[in-house]
Amino acid sequence: MCTSVDFDVAIVGAGAAGLLAAYELSEKSKLKIVVVEEGNDVEKRECPARIYTICTKCKPCNILCGVGGAGTFSSGLLNLSPFIGGDLTEFTETEEEAWDLVKRVDNVFKENGAPNQIYDPSKEAIDELNRKAASVGLRFIPTIQRLIGTDNAPAVISNIKKTLESRGVKFKLRSKVTEVEDHTLVLKKGEKVSARYVMLAPGRSGMEWAAEQMEKLRIKTRFEPLDIGVRVEVPATIMEPICSIQRDPKFHIYTHTYDDFIRTFCVNHQGYVVQEVYEDHVCVNGHSSITDKSEATNFAFLARIILTQPFEDTTAYGRSIGKQATLLGGGKPLLQRLGDLRGGRRSTWERITRSAVRPTLRDVTPGDIAMAMPHRIVTDIVEGLEKLDELIPGVASDTTLLYAPEIKYSAKRVLTNKGLETEITNIFVAGDGVGVSRGIVSAGATGLVVAQSILKKENVI
Ligand SMILES: Cc1cc2nc3c(=O)[nH]c(=O)nc-3n(C[C@H](O)[C@H](O)[C@H](O)COP(=O)(O)OP(=O)(O)OC[C@H]3O[C@@H](n4cnc5c(N)ncnc54)[C@H](O)[C@@H]3O)c2cc1C
Repeated sequence: MCTSVDFDVAIVGAGAAGLLAAYELSEKSKLKIVVVEEGNDVEKRECPARIYTICTKCKPCNILCGVGGAGTFSSGLLNLSPFIGGDLTEFTETEEEAWDLVKRVDNVFKENGAPNQIYDPSKEAIDELNRKAASVGLRFIPTIQRLIGTDNAPAVISNIKKTLESRGVKFKLRSKVTEVEDHTLVLKKGEKVSARYVMLAPGRSGMEWAAEQMEKLRIKTRFEPLDIGVRVEVPATIMEPICSIQRDPKFHIYTHTYDDFIRTFCVNHQGYVVQEVYEDHVCVNGHSSITDKSEATNFAFLARIILTQPFEDTTAYGRSIGKQATLLGGGKPLLQRLGDLRGGRRSTWERITRSAVRPTLRDVTPGDIAMAMPHRIVTDIVEGLEKLDELIPGVASDTTLLYAPEIKYSAKRVLTNKGLETEITNIFVAGDGVGVSRGIVSAGATGLVVAQSILKKENVI
């Protein structure tokens, strides 16, 4: 039986984008808001193992779905800049407004229990690091950061949800939206939710679904670049001098042979490498907690791939590499010492055990990354690490561990106006699943942009 429920605003996805949009709308208006979420409530989400499941059908832990979205089991590292995870000035008139969005997202997390401590490197430390990085041809991207921590993130998300409920926001959980029919959402069991304004914020788990809906609604999209490479793990002492200045130091490098762009991303000082399970392949990721510290530091080291005609589908390309790596790893990620990769030989547990760092993820297959990834990407990784070693001695030692593959898929970018309204009036998009952000703060900020667009239409601001 179909039922129809009417709201002013229907939001698909309870990740950072959806929650922040609901936060802003419910604080500044009396609009009737519903958040429709495919996954479970925060308290019912569990992710005990160091295995993150990306596919909705797999067990034991679906890291991407449920209240809080992909942020709930992440390190919750908030990059407090409008230029990380996208460029928020695309959606604002001035740079100052973009910074205001970042501050607003940060304040919402703080109001709901995020730790007060921020990592704000001093000007002297930044100048010194900039100078050293520039002298070896690297670009350092200084950022102010706040670490919520894997251990705190679920409680903070739960507080945000409680605040929203106290303001009358309704949540429809375990309710996958199967179709968007203009301003009506069709749910899995045939139920329909209609609203004057619809916002789609389905995150990475819903990016293919979002692309299908856009095609059906004839809303234009374009492919975005793919970031692919490895997760590097080294003894924490090697990264300590840099991580004591910047919790998640970001370096941009252009490689010698191909002049490709490669970067450090998601640095987990004293953290853990984790496995990500997709429907047809496995990848790696990393996390860090405030209390449970390892003796290693891991970071993603990712080359940027842009494809042009006749084949522009970066997701399909990334997936084919992911599947090849998974095939070679017998269903597990590959682990190789950098020295073995350079020496053209497969790693063995015996050689890995001799490393200065003990792998924090052990459910892996010692292997040869060069058999799984294109030569160009492998060359970028080796050359990039050797450049980074000039700034951080030891990072490119023979015993450095490389886990593969690490892939950051990008959603197809939905084309919108500055206020994130699509070609269909009053259908808006926000967050990672529609290609307008890549990170908690930027996703949350795009949710705020949508909320402000709606509030303007309602003459509230
Ligand atoms: C392991 C890991 C660690 C990370 N660490 C960090 C970090 O430290 N710092 C950082 O800034 N970023 C981090 N990220 C990225 C960050 O989590 C995302 O950028 C952010 O969560 C994106 O927010 P979002 O709202 O766009 O999407 P999501 O958080 O993915 O939320 C989207 C929600 O929509 C729901 N949904 C999807 N399709 C449908 C549908 N059809 N119907 C109903 N509901 C649907 C999903 O279930 C999901 O809950 C990490 C990601 C991962 C996977």
